[in-house]
Amino acid sequence: MEVCRQLSTKPVQAPKATTKKISFEEDSSTKASYEALPNAVFFALFFSVVYFLLSRWREKIRTSTPLHLFTSSEIVAIFALIASFIYLLRFFGIDFVKSLILRPSADVWNSEDDEEENEALLGKEDARKVPCGQALDCSVPAAPVISFQKVFDEKPVRVTTEEDEEIVKAVVAGTIPSYSLESKLGDCKRAAAIRRESLGRLTGKSLSGLPLDGFDYDSILGQCCEMPIGYVQIPVGIAGPLLLNGREYSVPMATTEGCLVASTNRGCKAISLSGGASSVLLKDGMTRAPVVRFGTAKRAADLKLYLEDSLNSETLAVVFNRSSRFARLQGIKCAIAGKNLYLRFTCSTGDAMGMNMVSKGVQNVLDFLQTDFPDMDVIGISGNFCSDKKPAAVNWIEGRGKSVVCEAIIKGDVVRKVLKTSVESLVELNMLKNLTGSAMAGALGGFNAHASNIVTAIYIATGQDPAQNVESSHCITMMEAVNDGNDLHVSVTMPSIEVGTVGGGTQLASQSACLNLLGVKGANRESPGANSRLLATIIAGAVLAGELSLMSALAAGQLVKSHMKYNRSSKDASSTVS
Ligand code: ADP
Repeated sequence: MEVCRQLSTKPVQAPKATTKKISFEEDSSTKASYEALPNAVFFALFFSVVYFLLSRWREKIRTSTPLHLFTSSEIVAIFALIASFIYLLRFFGIDFVKSLILRPSADVWNSEDDEEENEALLGKEDARKVPCGQALDCSVPAAPVISFQKVFDEKPVRVTTEEDEEIVKAVVAGTIPSYSLESKLGDCKRAAAIRRESLGRLTGKSLSGLPLDGFDYDSILGQCCEMPIGYVQIPVGIAGPLLLNGREYSVPMATTEGCLVASTNRGCKAISLSGGASSVLLKDGMTRAPVVRFGTAKRAADLKLYLEDSLNSETLAVVFNRSSRFARLQGIKCAIAGKNLYLRFTCSTGDAMGMNMVSKGVQNVLDFLQTDFPDMDVIGISGNFCSDKKPAAVNWIEGRGKSVVCEAIIKGDVVRKVLKTSVESLVELNMLKNLTGSAMAGALGGFNAHASNIVTAIYIATGQDPAQNVESSHCITMMEAVNDGNDLHVSVTMPSIEVGTVGGGTQLASQSACLNLLGVKGANRESPGANSRLLATIIAGAVLAGELSLMSALAAGQLVKSHMKYNRSSKDASSTVS
């Protein structure tokens, strides 16, 4: 604020960047007026020379002088005629003449150079681009869009006033901390622009590919991202319709992984043609596990017994639930390591993913316990028995967030015609890859082909915490021949899908639009928690589709071929084979 006040007393002057721009514009207009003068001279010269030569011609005819004998003044006039004629051709826009006879001004020359460079670059980019259009039935990106993007991206960062310039200098010098810009300026976009400019000057690195415009920096303040300098663009593709529990969903997936959306889309098609998938939510509870320490293992055991005694559960729930009208304690699971106790609280959290909510409830209970267990030393509100964003058997076995099972019976015909493989091959591959192969690898929750691909793409599109893909992607994929071996029963069981439709990144404009597309935006007023539960089942359905399609591609030996054909011609396709 102090900086704001100091700076606001200064008269506002034209900023450097703007000054430069204005002087460029002045140059252009001055240049234009300078160019008008030779135009007039050449016009006058042309017509006077024509008049002179015609009169000389008439004079020669009258005096019977041979026409091919020229006086020196006539020769000069002929040269002047040719020169002014060529000049006037150029004036009327005949470009080849212009390029032959006139050196453009430095500015014009440069801009033409840039255009050529741009064209070359676009050509290069286009050449690198895949025949994705053929494969996915999508149109090849139009060149004007790319060129617009390029212009947009390469706009210089706008430090628009002298005040801004002063602040940039102060940030570079370290007298204003970069993190304080938002609070000092009270303008998030301006803070981001100034931070970005300062960073560019400090590092000497270009940020031209990272857009600044087109983002609401106020919406992330204090919630989603600190010290922003721009935003990364991730394309959002659409897979579907996914027919799940009798309803159709278009599933948004944010990814830069070629073939992923197309493949999931194919799985959705197979599911829909077979009558759809159904999913069931088995459990819904977010967890947090503090670690507390006592002087003896016996005291730790005392607390364990206290917490697990059903006589105390009601009191503990009342204390816990004070944290939020949506938080409802479901249980506490304890594990002892010597004199240390890990208390894994599980609670429902409405439509929120619930980490904040559960942490607040846990803090309430710890404060409450301190009365009866004054020797309890709270080491940390999270003791990793929760377990958040790390592979852990506790989530795989006990569940965390939403536990969902999703199944479908894919008709034999559809397996052959859409998935281009057979029921038998799929069942065999699933057994040897997803079950035996994963067992051989000592997998923890990784009994699937690529659940994390789908989970992460939907998480990014819908504003979930992408780091939670670790446990949210735990999945066992099962395949079995049914109906006398004619059809395929396929299921995915996912015990720890951690999602919310309120809080965190879900309220940002793009993410919120993707949630809206799925019909799960925000809080469900009639039945709190229904939106986030529905989202979890849709994710399981999309994973089912993704598993079906990738497993089929593998069974049919198409995977590498399709990646090479569609978008991996210069890359290693194996990187996407999970
Ligand atoms: P998280 O616990 O996932 O980090 P936040 O604490 O950021 O989520 O967001 C949850 C907030 O949203 C809480 O303040 C809660 O009161 C509010 N809220 C509003 N409606 C709901 C709902 N239907 N379910 C859960 N929380 C809700």
